[in-house]
Amino acid sequence: MGEGIGGQGKSRSILVAGAGPVGLAAALELARRGFSPRVVDDGAGPTPLEESRALGVNARTLTLLSPSGVAERIVAAAQPIEQFRVRSKEKTLVQLDTRQVRGRFSAIRALAQGHTERLLMEALATYGIAPEWQTAVVADAISDFQKPEVLLRRADGRSETVRPDILIGADGAHSVVRKALGAGFPGEALETYFYLADFRYAGPVDTHYGEVSIFDPGMVARLPVSADIIRYISTLENFENRIVHPATVAKKTWASQFRINFRHVEPMAKGNIFLAGDAAHIHSPAGARGMNLGIEDACWLAWLIAEGREQEYSALRIPAVKQVLKQTYGLTRLVTMKNPLAIAVRNLVAPLFPRFGPARRALLQSVAGYDTPRPPWIDWAE
Ligand SMILES: Cc1cc2nc3c(=O)[nH]c(=O)nc-3n(C[C@H](O)[C@H](O)[C@H](O)COP(=O)(O)OP(=O)(O)OC[C@H]3O[C@@H](n4cnc5c(N)ncnc54)[C@H](O)[C@@H]3O)c2cc1C
Repeated sequence: MGEGIGGQGKSRSILVAGAGPVGLAAALELARRGFSPRVVDDGAGPTPLEESRALGVNARTLTLLSPSGVAERIVAAAQPIEQFRVRSKEKTLVQLDTRQVRGRFSAIRALAQGHTERLLMEALATYGIAPEWQTAVVADAISDFQKPEVLLRRADGRSETVRPDILIGADGAHSVVRKALGAGFPGEALETYFYLADFRYAGPVDTHYGEVSIFDPGMVARLPVSADIIRYISTLENFENRIVHPATVAKKTWASQFRINFRHVEPMAKGNIFLAGDAAHIHSPAGARGMNLGIEDACWLAWLIAEGREQEYSALRIPAVKQVLKQTYGLTRLVTMKNPLAIAVRNLVAPLFPRFGPARRALLQSVAGYDTPRPPWIDWAE
């Protein structure tokens, strides 16, 4: 299938609410097909480099961002995660070589979300488009879903009413656009809190692998952020005393805590209003899928708009969203188990799993993000 045929015209006005990775990816994919979307964001600028939630950029995202040239720049800047392991009581339960996935890219790399956002912004700037910062979408209730009326309010108090032909709500988990549509966000919140700390070391450290250490109860995950920063995420509040630092700590660059929710909206569109990324679905960071799935939404939506087929968006994306929610739910439950019998069974079965070829391949496919439908506009094998 070819690239966009022009659909109902490149002159359609498109407003993207939110300049996170998803809003930026949507704007970029539209811009390279000849559209001139307007992107507004409530915040003062992109995510600060040292406060980045998402790290894992998977192979599917690199496929999707290849035509714009952003994939190449991500690959040049990111840390390859060559190995992923799960350990319990000094024993390695699972070990996965992420380079074994077939295709152009290894399964997953690490790059701070703020960095990815800046690369998307640079590519967008080549089309003369820049996000309008400190510009909030204010919408209590939208009544006309075909030609939505939206109020934009700037930090200096000025406001403007716009009526775009298409409104893309990429305004994150607390999406104003989703609420203005009157859409629910059903799902559940886990009781468990997750705690996070990023440490910068005095010298380079081994960043080639990601690891989850299970303590039953509780776990600590270790992931590379950059050549000298490692992230630790845990279910234990006092997890820092479990960390075996690989070098002298120069600085704790960021710490945060969050509660995990599994929620998604259905349908993901009403009339000419479309929800993408965290505005449409949120889940645990286990598996590093959130931003990747959102970028996938954005790329599919841009392609469908260019094809004049945007009304198919929700039906095409919902199965992918459900698949990823199910997968991340399972992974999260596996590392947060409390029942001793279930723990014993898991510890017995887990080491066998990757030795079984089809199971290992399925796991790698999902780490790479290849378990959702392939983008039909990309004509090379992933
Ligand atoms: C600890 C942690 C680790 C994670 N790790 C990974 C990972 O490794 N890989 C991965 O793929 N995902 C990961 N995620 C998930 C990832 O961070 C999110 O899925 C991703 O940020 C979603 O992008 P988004 O653009 O949809 O939303 P956001 O990044 O939340 O961006 C939304 C934007 O909308 C703006 N906005 C909000 N309200 C308005 C308004 N009214 N008007 C205008 N603008 C507005 C905000 O200022 C913001 O810039 C992780 C999440 C957490 C919490």
